[in-house]
Parts: sequence; structure tokens; C-alpha cells
Amino acid sequence: MPLVSAKAMLEKAAAGGYAVAHININNLEWTKAVLLTAQKANSPVILGVSAGAAKYMGGYKTVVAMTRALLEDLNISVPVALHLDHGGFDDAVACINAGFSSVMFDGSHYPIDENIEKTRILRDACGVLGLSLEAEVGAIGGEEDGVLGGGELADPVECKRVADLGVDMLAAGIGNIHGKYPANWPGLNFDVLGKIHEAVGGKPLVLHGGTGIPDEMVRRAITLGVAKINVNTECQLAFQEATRAYIESGADQNGKGFDPRKLLAPGYEAICAKVLEKITLFGSAGKA
Ligand SMILES: [Zn+2]
Repeated sequence: MPLVSAKAMLEKAAAGGYAVAHININNLEWTKAVLLTAQKANSPVILGVSAGAAKYMGGYKTVVAMTRALLEDLNISVPVALHLDHGGFDDAVACINAGFSSVMFDGSHYPIDENIEKTRILRDACGVLGLSLEAEVGAIGGEEDGVLGGGELADPVECKRVADLGVDMLAAGIGNIHGKYPANWPGLNFDVLGKIHEAVGGKPLVLHGGTGIPDEMVRRAITLGVAKINVNTECQLAFQEATRAYIESGADQNGKGFDPRKLLAPGYEAICAKVLEKITLFGSAGKA
């Protein structure tokens, strides 16, 4: 199946009371692990690509070509969206031109009127081309590609203004942060999430910083309109732990254990397991 917009899969998820996993990818192994796991679980999936990850892989065109070829070579039949994560305006335009099926424009650091104006321009472009668009209101805490967010709580009135532009999904800060959560993290603010959910009239909401949010909070967020959950750091940690264990066991020094296909295999398997765990938690298994 070719790449699809995330619009239909997220509307179906919001109506069905589950969420679709957005998994950030970093290389060929990562992409293959996510695609094959989603296929095995018969689940829709969103491949998230930050500007930094795209640069690492060669550029947006390389990412599009690799993903399209994997969909074909691996006979992937579940719906897959290729989505720019936290893009600036120019990144969003570059991804639209390169063949992404979905983009996020993160204008949360602009004054709200400027965020709305830029989001509107991209909404029009994405609408014409049949791509899905994610907007953001209220910066999400932590660091994403060098952009520091303060972990704000989004204003439901501003959320409604952006949702009313006709974007397909909305990321709103509700106390969530990127990366590992500190021990004194107060948790998601369900009061604010409930108000946003009501204000945007059922528009699919996006929960960023999925790593380390307790499962029961994730399930509760889904009941309040969260239909897309971003997972990045958790897969990185799973990959790192498995790779470390392989090397510390000395397996890389046995026979052909140095072969990159062997060296990267435990990390690959760890990503597959983590993605399956998330798909199961989010409730999207069997919903392709
Ligand atoms: Zn994010």
C-alpha cells in the first residue's frame, strides 16, 4: 500500500476509542522494525521523522524513497503515514515537496496569531495535496532537536482557534515533556485535556513525549480524545540496552559477531518488542 495521510486513521481511532502510535525512525533498521511490527499486529502506524533525523539519514527525499521502497519490498498492507515531526515552516514545505504524506508544523513558539497564520498557509497546501497536518499549541516540555519547550499548559481557547482552521490533529501541551520524565513530574493535567477535548469538538489530539507516562494515564488520555501518541526516546533506550548487552556479553568478538547484521539484530528486535507493546497499549492492534 502506498503512503497515506494520517487523517482517516486518526478519525477512525478517535471514534473507536484507541490511539495510533507515532514512532520516530532513525535509520533503515528502525523503519523496517516499525513497519514489520505494525504489519504483524495489523495496526495502522505513523512514522515520525524530525528534521534532525532526516538530515542524519541523508535528507527528506532519501527518507521518502526508503520508506516507499520498504512498503513495496516488505508487502506492507496496513495504513502507514510518513510524518514530519516538529517541523518549522520551511521543513514543512520541504517535506510536502519531498513526498511526505503528513506534516507537523510546530508554531507553538510563535505568538498565537503568527502560529495561526503560518498554520493556515500549510493547511491550504496540505488540503490541496491530500496530506494531513498537525499543529501545536502550548509548547511541550523538554528538548526536541535543540528546541526547548517549557512544558506549558495549552489554552483551550487557542486550541479551538487552531483546530477551527481545519487541521487534522492538534498537539497541545498538557504537562507532557520530551525525553525522560523527572522523578518529581506531577503527571498529565487531565483537567486541561478535558477542556481542550471539549473545545475542539472531537478533533484528534496528539500526545507528545510518550516515554515514561504511566499506562493508566495513557489509557485515560485516550478516553479524552488523544488519538495519536508519539514514542521516540523509549525505542532509543530499548535499542541502546540491547546493543550494550550484546557487546558486553562479548558476542561481537565471537566468530562473525562483528557483522553489522548481527551486531544490530538485538537492538532491532528490542525496537520490534517496544513497538508491539505500544500498539497493544494504545489499542490499535487489529484496527488496520
Ligand atoms: Zn514532540
